[in-house]
Amino acid sequence: MYPNWILRRAYLTPHRTGLTFENESWTFEQIKQISIKRTYQLAGLGINHRQRIAVLGPSKPSLIFIMYACMHLQCEMVMLNRKLSKSELQYQIEDSQVEMVLVEDEDAHLLPANTNHLLFSKILESAEEAVEISEEWPSNQTTTIMYTSGTTGFPKGVRQTVENHQSSAVSSVLNIGLSHDDVWLCAVPLFHISGFSILVRSLLYGNEVKLYQKFDQDGAVRDISEGSVTHMSVVAVILGRILQGLEEKQLKASPRFKVMLPGGGPVPVNYLERAHKLGLAVCQTYGMTETSSQTATLSNADALRKIGSVGKPLFFNQIKILDATSPRTEGEILIRGPHVTPGYIGRFAERSSTINGWLHTGDIGYFDEEGYLYVVDRRSDLIISGGENVYPAEVENVLMGHPAVREAGVCGIEHEVWGQVPVAFVVLKHDVTEEELIAFCKEKLAKYKIPKQFYVVQALPRNASNKLMRRKLKELMN
Ligand code: ATP
Ligand code: MG
Repeated sequence: MYPNWILRRAYLTPHRTGLTFENESWTFEQIKQISIKRTYQLAGLGINHRQRIAVLGPSKPSLIFIMYACMHLQCEMVMLNRKLSKSELQYQIEDSQVEMVLVEDEDAHLLPANTNHLLFSKILESAEEAVEISEEWPSNQTTTIMYTSGTTGFPKGVRQTVENHQSSAVSSVLNIGLSHDDVWLCAVPLFHISGFSILVRSLLYGNEVKLYQKFDQDGAVRDISEGSVTHMSVVAVILGRILQGLEEKQLKASPRFKVMLPGGGPVPVNYLERAHKLGLAVCQTYGMTETSSQTATLSNADALRKIGSVGKPLFFNQIKILDATSPRTEGEILIRGPHVTPGYIGRFAERSSTINGWLHTGDIGYFDEEGYLYVVDRRSDLIISGGENVYPAEVENVLMGHPAVREAGVCGIEHEVWGQVPVAFVVLKHDVTEEELIAFCKEKLAKYKIPKQFYVVQALPRNASNKLMRRKLKELMN
């Protein structure tokens, strides 16, 4: 058993600020009081202990208090992504068989017709019914169910237990360190593990979360340069906008700012160099929904020396490369540890997530001689051309280094002689000829990696997490 994080935190540091949003802030004691009130209101509306329910809403304190109420009820919370289309939401609601969706009023229109739901306004008006709130949670209890991004196929509903979240938070802090006045800026979605894990860390560490409803470039640049926040989780695009903002305003990161954690995909090398000049510590991380956030993280001290690496496994986490017996051998990345999900739900429930305790990630990577992990690409996107491996990510990175290219996507197509050959899809900033792109690739890539065809497109197919869906690129050929 582990302690109910919300009750324990309020008991330990009741007067410390736990959350700020716009001009308001809440102490841990206030967070506890409001979340208990919401628990009783949900009970008054017939929501029971351990039910599976879904939550949907923008990143606001109201959503956090409802989520904490669900945690007091030990419900299995399905975290719905508000950027999904109606049919995508329908798929997740059906797949997870939730009995009820708790939805912020302004997001009610996102729900498919006939969805059983309760509006936040109705919950706030409801009569309270005092129910038992457990002081302890079983370690294997499912706290959240999050769907993967659906980059390689259908999104999979991942169980994340009390132990998964808790060990993830502890591993993270053993790597990054902690002081009582740390403030984590949360501008990533709360329905993703990137955002939710910030809440869990706050409850475990007793530090403040500064919540943004949406990413705000000016606000983030101000917070980082003034030092009103110390940590921030980002994806590469957001990091790019922060760097640009600091550079344009000729500002530097405050010495109080400790670390920026980019995840979800690779970070361009040029960003790391620019961040270094601005005094901004950036630590690349690797993780996924199935590992409840980071599994490996690069320390800032190594950021420039180990460019491209995602660092070493966090303290409790084990990572190995399938069938690799020596450094620099590429293969599928396998992960084991207390942060790894016990399994999927819904249509993927039968699929075991691990083999002998090892999560098979579907990502290809390798370790160098010093034990630093490099993520190469997704196995499912690997192109085999004349027996040689071509990783789309490598070719895309080269193309994106060309000044005329804004975005690039690469996939394989059938070829009579070579089996498969790479082709490229580019979104341009300004005109460029195919010959010029080929000449540019020739300087940096082996011949078999150079795309055999180039398609100029308006946009690349991306999912709600803004990730490139390479399996859909071919549809752009017609
Ligand atoms: P699905 O599993 O449905 O195809 P997804 O894998 O994109 O979707 P997430 O769990 O959101 O869903 O993303 C995790 C994946 O993101 C990892 O498995 C990996 O492929 C990629 N990723 C995360 N961090 C990095 C990184 N630092 N470098 C490269 N890839 C990364
Ligand atoms: Mg995945």
